[in-house]
Amino acid sequence: MKVVCRIMFLLLAVALGVTESVAQDAMPARVIPVQPMEQVFLPAHLSPGLAVDLDNPASYLYPEWSNEYVHGYNEVVLPDSVIISMKGYCMPTDSTRITDKYGYRPRRGRAHLGIDIKVKVGDTIRAAFDGKVRISRYERRGYGHYLVIRHPNGLETVYGHLSKKLVNENDIVHAGDPIGLGGNTGRSTGSHLHFETRILGNAINPAFMFDFPNQKVVTDYYVYQKNTREVYYKVKSGDTLSRIAIKNETSVANICKLNGISRNAIIKVGQTLRVN
Ligand SMILES: [Zn+2]
Repeated sequence: MKVVCRIMFLLLAVALGVTESVAQDAMPARVIPVQPMEQVFLPAHLSPGLAVDLDNPASYLYPEWSNEYVHGYNEVVLPDSVIISMKGYCMPTDSTRITDKYGYRPRRGRAHLGIDIKVKVGDTIRAAFDGKVRISRYERRGYGHYLVIRHPNGLETVYGHLSKKLVNENDIVHAGDPIGLGGNTGRSTGSHLHFETRILGNAINPAFMFDFPNQKVVTDYYVYQKNTREVYYKVKSGDTLSRIAIKNETSVANICKLNGISRNAIIKVGQTLRVN
């Protein structure tokens, strides 16, 4: 146990150190509180002697394997922290040009929960890690032809706007395998790859892990922390700011601050608000 703790500490130190330097370069400063060790979730594949199961990847984190929902994990309790290993990664595209960053656009009431990378129609798109294809589908108004792959490190990666999918649901893939071709399908203007990284349905900025301009990962281990995660809410009919605040266990003041709006702002059904 002592050895495990020491390894954990090193992993945390490395991961926190790297994410902090990234935050300084590209993002607004992010305060990452240090978690007590016992609350840090150690993925099975980081435990010595445990084999990686590609048939049911990250079963230590996900309650089931299902092809039904894209990001439907509302009932699942998130661990306080998850250490995500970047070991064995492959960049999904060799393109180095980012055309749209990850982030929330309060003015448009829209959250862009992925990163857009310029690719040409027909360019090869590759699996970021070993894993199993959970969703291979077409969405006319959204992702277009898209794939969701679950990986043993706990991440799910999403590849959108493809011109062609080269894998089927439940296929096992390896890092670097061609999984699709770049395209311009769905809600897309100009061919590009929309790439998302999620954990139990919660989006993480891919730039915290993948550096497309330099074609490498920015850290060996990314520490996902529940209490700093971003939470978004889609406004429903009959919602008011105070009702939304109650539903999401936050305050109207906090919602106003996160979205740069006033208490009297008019909110529209279907609009996305950041609530944490
Ligand atoms: Zn996008």
